[in-house]
Amino acid sequence: MDDFAKCFSATLSCLSPRESTRRVQNIAFFLPTARSPRENARSEPIIRYNLGMFRLMCVTAHPDDEAGSFGGTLRTYRDRGTETCVVCLTPGQAASNRGGARSDQELAAMRKREFLASCEILGVSKPIIFDYPDGQLYRQELNRIVYQLTLEVRRFRPHVLLTFGPEGGVTGHPDHSMAGVFAGLAFHWAGRANRYSDQLHSGVEPHRTQKLYYGAAGFALPGRPPITFAPRTTAIDIGNHLETKVAAFKAHKTQAPLWPHFEENAQKLGAKELFHLAASIRPGPIENESDLFAGVEE
Ligand SMILES: [Zn+2]
Repeated sequence: MDDFAKCFSATLSCLSPRESTRRVQNIAFFLPTARSPRENARSEPIIRYNLGMFRLMCVTAHPDDEAGSFGGTLRTYRDRGTETCVVCLTPGQAASNRGGARSDQELAAMRKREFLASCEILGVSKPIIFDYPDGQLYRQELNRIVYQLTLEVRRFRPHVLLTFGPEGGVTGHPDHSMAGVFAGLAFHWAGRANRYSDQLHSGVEPHRTQKLYYGAAGFALPGRPPITFAPRTTAIDIGNHLETKVAAFKAHKTQAPLWPHFEENAQKLGAKELFHLAASIRPGPIENESDLFAGVEE
């Protein structure tokens, strides 16, 4: 861990992102001489803080995925100054736990509010929730959803995109798999001027996100159909945001019966979240990373 950067991170956290970046550029000028030769020789991974000009987008399927699968990472990067956006494709209206809702519409409305409350706890800068039908993403028109996600990528212009792998994450839910497929296509197509070129007006331009990650799991849940995970390449230390992640999950009050099971699994994984680097604009051999923004440029 880079104590020097960490120290300045605390100092800069009260500045606006633009101010932080200006200061960091000045500080970075002195960095090479501020370390001893022995420190410079260390080959520890460098975690960048003060990511004031960086943006992280996360595409999920249901309200609560943002907390359960990505919550610690979203909050950790927000604390480092990164702008975050979560796009959730369904309002979760087919859930078994219905919190007293009398109809799908009522449950959708309740879960949208819970999603916003969870995003507030996670410090998400731009929460977006669509109205696609829960449990039915595999039946939706692929082109329509990829079109919408491509537009969101071109508007938010993330440096890094997180989503589920086609295995569907730790639960293997088909909606998670489809969210990952749609988001993966949007990741690639948003950067190509010949895809959805009708979007390219009024300031919307092609955008190449630099890295695509799938959530990776440390273990499979018992009693479920087999799930084959992508290898983990990246472990993010979420520190005490394990508690924040649990608190964000508990903002989903309609899902209260899931809380004990979730908390047990979250504690089992501990203060880290795992990812698989699925694509990068700087291809090369896969290295074990501890920072999603390693190698990312402004
Ligand atoms: Zn889900």
